[in-house]
Amino acid sequence: MEKEANAQSKMFDNIADSYDKINHILSFNIDKNWRKKIIAHLPQTRPIQILDVATGTGDLAIMMAKHSKQARITAIDISDNMMEIAIKKADKENVANKIVFKNNNVTNLPFDDNTFDYCTISFGARNFADLDKALGEIYRCLKPGGKLFIIEFSKKPSNKIVEILYKLYSKVWIPFIGGLISKNKGAYTYLPNSISKFIHWSVFVKKLKTVGFSSVHHKKLTFGIVIFYEGTKI
Ligand code: SAM
Repeated sequence: MEKEANAQSKMFDNIADSYDKINHILSFNIDKNWRKKIIAHLPQTRPIQILDVATGTGDLAIMMAKHSKQARITAIDISDNMMEIAIKKADKENVANKIVFKNNNVTNLPFDDNTFDYCTISFGARNFADLDKALGEIYRCLKPGGKLFIIEFSKKPSNKIVEILYKLYSKVWIPFIGGLISKNKGAYTYLPNSISKFIHWSVFVKKLKTVGFSSVHHKKLTFGIVIFYEGTKI
């Protein structure tokens, strides 16, 4: 598992410089709206502790810092280069004092039990080498009543035509455009492949319940291309 995490951190280190640009181009900027689904569930004024897992270049962490005025955010990732960009962006957006970035693997979180009110993951869950362990660690670090919000790509959109177009887009267009801009076709072949290899949303929902989360819900976004998940620690 450690070997896989090292390979992941190397891959994301290599594409960090072009990651945001490619993300916004490939998603036609809809990725920002998907992240807003999580924002909509967060309180604006209450003091809260948030753990943003697999923060990458920090888009979600920065949005949360702007939205939740009294939030303290701990943002973790295993790629230093991705977080270097996140730190610069947080500084530019004047929220650097609200976010602490740390290089940590989600499978071994250096936080006490019952620390966070919320945990968020945007487009990170499918990359975890050991998803069960990751979810277990997140559960441990959430306070009782704390909530987990996840957005992740789905391997199977709900509409047949969208599914065919989405497959074509993932298998041909993403490696082509991603490879061209990042000069790393391997990474942009891995990323869509990791979507098709990821578990079905119904299995993910079961997993969340098995870990111990209650009030587990999911919502399909943009024809089921992305799924929003939520669960509460009892
Ligand atoms: N959250 C960001 C976003 O919305 O764009 C980044 C998503 S990016 C597709 C996935 C991130 O997961 C990468 O930055 C990668 O380094 C991180 N990652 C992969 N495995 C991880 C692990 N085991 N622990 C922490 N972060 C991990």
